[in-house]
Amino acid sequence: MEESSSALGSSGKVIPMRITRTAQSVVNVKLQADRDKALGQDLNSLTNFFDYFKDETVCFKFLELLRWSNGPVCPFCGYTEKIYRTAKGYKCANKACGKKFTVLHDSVFEHSKLPLRYWFVALYLCVNDTYGINSSQLARYLNITQKSAWFMMHRIREALIENNAPLFGIVEADETYVGGRSKNKHAKKKKKNTQGRSLVDKVPVLGMVEREGRLVAVTVNNAQQETLKKSITRVVEQGAMLITDELKSYHFARENYYHVTMKHRKEQYVNDEFHTNTIEGFWGLLKRGLSGTFHQVSKHYLQRYLNEFVFRYNHRKKDATQRFLLALHYACFKRLSYLQLRLKGQHEASKLLAA
Ligand SMILES: [Zn+2]
Repeated sequence: MEESSSALGSSGKVIPMRITRTAQSVVNVKLQADRDKALGQDLNSLTNFFDYFKDETVCFKFLELLRWSNGPVCPFCGYTEKIYRTAKGYKCANKACGKKFTVLHDSVFEHSKLPLRYWFVALYLCVNDTYGINSSQLARYLNITQKSAWFMMHRIREALIENNAPLFGIVEADETYVGGRSKNKHAKKKKKNTQGRSLVDKVPVLGMVEREGRLVAVTVNNAQQETLKKSITRVVEQGAMLITDELKSYHFARENYYHVTMKHRKEQYVNDEFHTNTIEGFWGLLKRGLSGTFHQVSKHYLQRYLNEFVFRYNHRKKDATQRFLLALHYACFKRLSYLQLRLKGQHEASKLLAA
């Protein structure tokens, strides 16, 4: 029946009554087509990437299509019915709100003086290079100061935090120590007892990985039972099979998990399913990356570097395009101001600038 949605006009033609709804659906179909086209771009090579993101307009449009699947949404009141376009973005038509906004609102790109295109390049290189990219390299590629590049990378790392759904099934847990190796340091900088499991110059990091699944890595204050218990029970679901080395700190695991310990002797290192090779493989990747790409990472910012390495690890089976789209999605909802960053680690920042 057409009656409910149409009427006869003076010319006898059927005129749709719900003109706005019809118009809206036409807009939606067009929007969906634009979205499919944009998000379906093959960005697996750098040449494709630069060909497609040729200017700011394309980057903004792309971000809008990614962020707003059904057209602009007011970030202040959630209004979608009527949004005006302005010279620089949008204005909410909700009388109670009426605020102006752009697609960058609450994203890591908000309030940045750098072109969005630069951010896209930084994000792409960060998530698609095996070991990431350091601020000196990025500064050269984009012809910006190292300070700007350093800040961009930290904002990006802050955004790359993975979801916190618990790990289950077969989970390997292991701790490692990240920091400068004493033997490579100048004699003056050497500290006593800094090899192995010492905290003087190193940060303990706890890693947990679901077999064939996601990995979580967090910095911890120490490798004592209470500390590891707190982190593991928060990340790994009760009842999972937990595989660890024989460190006493893992003994608590008998209570909540099916706990299997590995003796770190060669002949027992790999025993069918019972091994910690997955997490140890990740430690290798992390350490090669930290020493090769970043040279020196302060304790203070280590968690952010972990975010970056974990993101790449967890999405290693995706292609470059998918990783970029996902990272862009993450970047839309996280923001860290320079002031916050500085307040969190004022003295560390200057050290890092030299890295
Ligand atoms: Zn609004």
